[in-house]
Amino acid sequence: MEQTLVILKPDAVKRNLMGEIITRFEKVGLKLAAVKLVTAKKEIVDKHYPKDRDELWFGIGNKTLENYENLGMDPIESLGTSDPREIGKMVRVWLMDYIMQGPVLVMVLEAPHAVELVRKLAGHTLPLLAAPGTIRGDYAYDSSYLANSNKRAIENLVHASGTVEEAKYEIPLWFTPSEIHSY
Ligand code: GDP
Ligand code: MG
Repeated sequence: MEQTLVILKPDAVKRNLMGEIITRFEKVGLKLAAVKLVTAKKEIVDKHYPKDRDELWFGIGNKTLENYENLGMDPIESLGTSDPREIGKMVRVWLMDYIMQGPVLVMVLEAPHAVELVRKLAGHTLPLLAAPGTIRGDYAYDSSYLANSNKRAIENLVHASGTVEEAKYEIPLWFTPSEIHSY
């Protein structure tokens, strides 16, 4: 059995999509081991997006840079830098603002290969590239052009742990052991 952390971001909560998204997880057979609606505290969010994970922000910065290039946007003009590490740090701030915008529904889901399974159901990070049938493909339309221009994170409804290690790090940030159930 594997566990993964999923966060229904403020846009999913505001748009009343919580039930719809949970239903998709349940239909596949993922077990809801923990769930709560919270206004995320800065201290938790700060750890959830750990500043010192250099390779993580380098990767996100590089992907963002790639998106700028694909869109014909000049990162230097818009962000003042084309250094992936610097851009990654900026996206981190955007992400923290996004997730603290309103209440989020945090949950632990359990199944064999839960991490990969949830990533498959969530779909591609960029809504435009998320396949129909996935959560992001069916319910999100935000564009990286708009998000980058407004210096904010792409609104894509869900966070899902990227790896088993990430899940093991993230779950205890949001839940105490007694809040996680087995049945
Ligand atoms: P995820 O694991 O699929 O959510 O994607 P990442 O871990 O790579 O990125 C984390 C979050 O950062 C995404 O869910 C988006 O909200 C945001 N994000 C990622 N890439 C970009 C980008 O190029 N531009 C902007 N504005 N936000 C981005
Ligand atoms: Mg990620």
